[in-house]
Amino acid sequence: MAQPSATFTMDSREVQFHLLQQRKLAFQRDGYTCTECGYKSQRGKGEVHDLEAHHIDRAAGDMLDNLQTLCLPVTTNEQLSS
Ligand SMILES: [Zn+2]
Repeated sequence: MAQPSATFTMDSREVQFHLLQQRKLAFQRDGYTCTECGYKSQRGKGEVHDLEAHHIDRAAGDMLDNLQTLCLPVTTNEQLSS
């Protein structure tokens, strides 16, 4: 008998892991460069501390198409202006 693997309930840890993967893919797609101002990440050892994967539409989830690479100053400004 097969296990009932069709049920798709992700716990919060899996959701977090999924977002981390999507975040990395978004950075790779955008060349680790801010899509607003062109700032390039000074990442060391593959860790990115100065970029954010911004959700273009907050309600649309963590799909790669909904993520945009932005530097931290830009994301901070966006939060202030909206
Ligand atoms: Zn920027």
